[in-house]
Amino acid sequence: MVIVGGGIVGSAVAYFLTADAGFRGSIAILERDTAYREGSTARSAGGLRQQFSTPENIAMSQVTLAMIRSLKAQFGLDADVAFREQGYLILASAGGEALLAQNVALQRSLGADIAALGVAELSARFPWLSAGGVAAGALGQSGEGWFDPVSLAWLFRKAAVARGASVVHDEVIGIDVGERVAGVVLERGGRLACGSLVNAAGPWAGEVAGLAGVRLPVVARKRYVYVLDCREPPQALRKAPLTVDPGGVWFRPEGGVFICGKSPDESAEPGIGDLDAIDYTFFEEEVWPSLAARVPAFERIKVVNAWAGYYDYNTLDQNAVIGPHLAIPNLYFAAGFSGHGAQQAAAAGRAIAELLVDGAYRTIDLTRFGYARIAANAALRERNVI
Ligand SMILES: Cc1cc2nc3c(=O)[nH]c(=O)nc-3n(C[C@H](O)[C@H](O)[C@H](O)COP(=O)(O)OP(=O)(O)OC[C@H]3O[C@@H](n4cnc5c(N)ncnc54)[C@H](O)[C@@H]3O)c2cc1C
Repeated sequence: MVIVGGGIVGSAVAYFLTADAGFRGSIAILERDTAYREGSTARSAGGLRQQFSTPENIAMSQVTLAMIRSLKAQFGLDADVAFREQGYLILASAGGEALLAQNVALQRSLGADIAALGVAELSARFPWLSAGGVAAGALGQSGEGWFDPVSLAWLFRKAAVARGASVVHDEVIGIDVGERVAGVVLERGGRLACGSLVNAAGPWAGEVAGLAGVRLPVVARKRYVYVLDCREPPQALRKAPLTVDPGGVWFRPEGGVFICGKSPDESAEPGIGDLDAIDYTFFEEEVWPSLAARVPAFERIKVVNAWAGYYDYNTLDQNAVIGPHLAIPNLYFAAGFSGHGAQQAAAAGRAIAELLVDGAYRTIDLTRFGYARIAANAALRERNVI
């Protein structure tokens, strides 16, 4: 078995396959980036929330939450992914209030601890917030926050390798495929035969699918994260949840600083070129005005750092594609998480292991995330993409 991609998703697939006594056969994670530097996992903000509009996404994030809560039992006493359970606060304008309420009802029905707050409650609970233009908010009171995806990916990989999986640092440049995948062609020369292949290539999953002649609408989309120094922020602001403004700007505390960002409009997507090239004009024009209007203390902030990363963006519906191809039964996808894959890797890894070992989902039914909707061009749209 070959897993293309050694980020958090590919590593989780290997972890669950090796954890399950039912899987027989060798497991090779093929990863071209020896430093894991450019992958989405290394650039992630690591948010974990249950505030989604698609039931499967809620259930998948709950798997990671459970795993983080039992981390030391699973990975040993020194295991740590720096989970900060400070919640998500999603704000809605009058136009978005009905959808927010609908989402909260769904999330609560699935066991998520989300409170719907009116403007008076928002102002009372978050004195640093200026509520102009806000009609309502939804707050994760427990079970939401942020963690370090690199640490979780490393724990998955380390455990998988300890149980016999191998990591091969090479690039897959071709896929031998007929009715089934027979193997992969490697950049350094040679081929590796495989009984099945899992495409966990993150932002490059569309390209890897293309090597097998298969269409997968997953592309890299560049996102910026800006690091802010806020002189003498109110004490309560340091304890703020990850807050999402109605216009899409988000921020959260990170140690002694704050981080923030925004997904651009579809028509203004930046080129994906160099990850080291940061657009500070985007911050000045698209991010800062909303920040300063929402949090008066942010009127006097300074950008002290920034980074860019690639979202693994499914252009059809911003939801993951999980499961086998329809015509090539041993070609599996675990990709297209569209900016929420760090928190869904555990569930995706377990799902792929269930399919490979038992031929069916045993825990969360992810049939709706399957390739059939891609083939049919039938979107299953996630409304809460941040
Ligand atoms: C700025 C930013 C903020 C984010 N914030 C959040 C968040 O708050 N919460 C959340 O849950 N998610 C977030 N995400 C998304 C999340 O990080 C990703 O969904 C997740 O990391 C995807 O993991 P992956 O393993 O699929 O991809 P990756 O980590 O990109 O791993 C894929 C790997 O495949 C390798 N690869 C690709 N092609 C080949 C090939 N041909 N041969 C060999 N190797 C190959 C790459 O080198 C790469 O290491 C964010 C992402 C970004 C960029």
